[in-house]
Amino acid sequence: MLELVTAAREVSDSVTLGLITGGDAAAELNAAPDVESILGVRIPRNRMLDDATRARAVTSLLSQSAATLVLLPATWTWAAAAASAAVTHDMSLVSHCVSLETAPDGGLLVQRPVYGEKILAELHLPKGRQALALVKKGSWPAAELVSNSPRIDFIADISPDDGDVTHVEFIGPENDDEDLKNAPIVFAVGRGLGTAEQIEIVSKAARKCGAALAASRPIVDMGLLPRSRQIGQSGLTVNPQIYVAFGISGAPQHLEGMRGSEVVVAINTDRDAPIFGAAHFGAFVDAAEIARILCDE
Ligand SMILES: Cc1cc2nc3c(=O)[nH]c(=O)nc-3n(C[C@H](O)[C@H](O)[C@H](O)COP(=O)(O)OP(=O)(O)OC[C@H]3O[C@@H](n4cnc5c(N)ncnc54)[C@H](O)[C@@H]3O)c2cc1C
Repeated sequence: MLELVTAAREVSDSVTLGLITGGDAAAELNAAPDVESILGVRIPRNRMLDDATRARAVTSLLSQSAATLVLLPATWTWAAAAASAAVTHDMSLVSHCVSLETAPDGGLLVQRPVYGEKILAELHLPKGRQALALVKKGSWPAAELVSNSPRIDFIADISPDDGDVTHVEFIGPENDDEDLKNAPIVFAVGRGLGTAEQIEIVSKAARKCGAALAASRPIVDMGLLPRSRQIGQSGLTVNPQIYVAFGISGAPQHLEGMRGSEVVVAINTDRDAPIFGAAHFGAFVDAAEIARILCDE
């Protein structure tokens, strides 16, 4: 949320913060980013913040503000609400925005990554049409908090009866991936070591080295490791201190989930494998052999 304020400041002198709050939230905030106004939408205390509720909240905020640009986080949880609000209000919509600039004609120039983040596309949003942009996490620094923030001006209440969807329960994943998300060292295994025996060797090496075990998508598709271990575009994004890729080619969809790692080590028998383009250290050898050595050391 704080990153959105920094992004908004880049193209506007007047920024309004929209807040969705639990029913009895106070109108005073101890600290908030430095904005001109804060609009609040109340939802019932235990209400699940589902797509329809988010869309209603955005619609309420739009009806009370003359904003030319609305920024939301580029997350799965906001995507459906953004699409719904953009259609309802006939707005321009752009997702995964990493740069914003006022265009010479007064419109907006927006950049977003495409083709597995290989290149940036620049889009022009015309002046005079409201726009909604989903901002990619980490693209702007978080705005600082100040203590003398404006009071929240509550403009709408969303009642428990609004909406067609009722939240029944949360169902946790079968396999917890918390250890993987926060692991300082990740050992990821790919199709180059695509048998249960070879994966067991990498798994043993990981335990020995204090690393979390991860996988490329084919290993998951083959049922050799659970989906919660998959790194990449359709899996998890990790940023460990050390990422070791055992028998992974380095497809863009895989790189998308690990390119933020501090040090990448690639072990692959093919010298031309694209993973070496993303690696700091590499070895052109049988990855199973390296895993065996790590187990013995
Ligand atoms: C929409 C979409 C989403 C996707 N999402 C993801 C995703 O989230 N994550 C993901 O990983 N993929 C994803 N993919 C799949 C992706 O495109 C690749 O197919 C996949 O990453 C390849 O996995 P891999 O590197 O394990 O296998 P391969 O590409 O088959 O590579 C195996 C590598 O192992 C090497 N090798 C073989 N034997 C050895 C050995 N003994 N020792 C060392 N190296 C060896 C080979 O040289 C080769 O480079 C997605 C694809 C699509 C279309």
